[in-house]
Amino acid sequence: MFEVSFIPAFKDNYIWLLQRDRRAFVVDPGDAAPVVARLEADGLALEGILITHHHADHQGGVGELIRRSPVPVFAPAAESITGSSHPLFGGETITVLGCTVQVMAVPGHTAGHLAYVAGDRLFCGDTLFGAGCGRLFEGTPAQMAASLDTLAALPLATLVHCAHEYTEANLRFALAVEPDNQAVHARVARVAGLRAAGQSSVPSMLAEELATNPFLRCREPGVIAAAMREGAVDASPVAVFAAIRAWRNRF
Ligand code: ZN
Ligand code: FE
Repeated sequence: MFEVSFIPAFKDNYIWLLQRDRRAFVVDPGDAAPVVARLEADGLALEGILITHHHADHQGGVGELIRRSPVPVFAPAAESITGSSHPLFGGETITVLGCTVQVMAVPGHTAGHLAYVAGDRLFCGDTLFGAGCGRLFEGTPAQMAASLDTLAALPLATLVHCAHEYTEANLRFALAVEPDNQAVHARVARVAGLRAAGQSSVPSMLAEELATNPFLRCREPGVIAAAMREGAVDASPVAVFAAIRAWRNRF
């Protein structure tokens, strides 16, 4: 399996770097400059790019990277992606640095959003975040809830490599939804320690997301009750998800 690390970009983006034997892939290079700097510093040859969705902070660096070295770009077929050479719909299996990677369709944040799973590593772009999930720019609550269910069904030890450092703010909201959830309180303390030390809160483990992320907990009585107070039309998981997501937008 390849090694995984991140390249920070912009204010709070993570560009994931996959490397094996001096060969590299990057996931969602929103900016080329920090990627080129890292490749040069570590003597890595870029061999390909994975894209989760079309937003500029995820694909803005692709043009410059493929101008420097014309590498394959794996990207959502349903979205407009610079340099896309391998359009994907979800359900495919691709090979990255000799490793098998499953492609999953996870619409909601955008209509064609993809996630990539390699062994115990999930690269989920702006679908699932530490203690949160992406905004619904193009999809419906039903689509996003189904996408999150798909990710929640991965093995508990899966490492969640999301594309932004949003965990602290998301945990403040998680506490508002479930003020008595001790796992959330414990995570607040742990993440505060990491951030105070200048460290990343990601990747997280899926088991921890299942215990603390309100958007993966739409069948829990406490989350259902909170959603009903916020105007959920009924107690179904999609209605609960829709109410919690709308509440998060104005939180
Ligand atoms: Zn996005
Ligand atoms: Fe983003």
